[in-house]
Amino acid sequence: MTILDGKKIAAEIRAELKAQIADLLANHQRAPKLGIVIVGHNPASETYVNNKMKACLEVGIEAIRIAFEDSITEKELLAEVDKLNHDDSIDGFIVQLPLPKHIDEQTITSAIDYRKDVDGLTPENVGRATKGLPCIISATPRGIRELLSRYAIPTDGKHIVVIGRSNIVGKPMASLLMQKHERGNATVTLCHSHTAHLKEICLSADIIIVAVGHPGLLTADMVSPGATVIDVGITRVDDSQSERGYRIKGDVDFDNVAPKCDFITPVPGGVGPMTIVSLLQNALQAYNSKR
Ligand code: NAP
Repeated sequence: MTILDGKKIAAEIRAELKAQIADLLANHQRAPKLGIVIVGHNPASETYVNNKMKACLEVGIEAIRIAFEDSITEKELLAEVDKLNHDDSIDGFIVQLPLPKHIDEQTITSAIDYRKDVDGLTPENVGRATKGLPCIISATPRGIRELLSRYAIPTDGKHIVVIGRSNIVGKPMASLLMQKHERGNATVTLCHSHTAHLKEICLSADIIIVAVGHPGLLTADMVSPGATVIDVGITRVDDSQSERGYRIKGDVDFDNVAPKCDFITPVPGGVGPMTIVSLLQNALQAYNSKR
């Protein structure tokens, strides 16, 4: 069994990005610039935004944090998105999710100029991805595909089960893997909370990608020997022993599932670091397309 080390692969990609951006600067080009919009004070969102800012800094991408209070209205936030769409100094931006209940996430993410949509969430990018056209791919699916690729895990002709149908992970992941592409060509089954016979479906999978947010959902009896398991889940569970008062748990019962697998991602240190580095790749892609 091999543990897919997202932390290590992400560090390798950050080094590659750093070299590419250093080259740009050496050729008297400006650095790419990413905007990160955050609304309110959700502690998990604050952590994600800080991690993204830190990662940008490390590779030489300029990052600005654009913070608003919970009291901002949908109309006001739309106006801010419009400003960023028209700001020539910003190559790409994200709106950190979740947003407060009174703001519709679809309305906000759909208002982003697709050329600056480094989260790959606009209808334009989603549509282009579905048609197999050049586009910005959502960061987590892009990171997972990269991880599979760097560990030379084939997808061609394989049965891949994706559990979870969110717009940010499950749906774009399934769409990416079914494309006529060297890193696609899979037979994909997309499962969700209404799926019947989840265990039987998983047992026929070569690769299982779980993005649900229920710790321990994928148990050993659902996994065939030799499978690859990718755990996207991130749930904070109280832990009085930990300095932070919580620890992060994935969707996979890791201790019991891992011995059955050929490859498996840990949580933390698997998909999470790949998501952040894919966002950086998307930011550089948006910068390059503009040029
Ligand atoms: P989400 O919007 O929270 O949706 C969860 C999905 O799981 C839904 O499609 C839901 O089905 C499905 N589901 C719920 N219970 C199920 C069950 N018992 N069996 C099968 N499917 C079930 O999903 P998300 O935003 O993709 O987040 C999922 C998890 O990934 C969360 O823990 C999140 O924190 C984490 N995440 C991690 C990263 C990373 O970089 N590692 C990135 C993004 C998200 P219905 O559609 O029927 O409700």
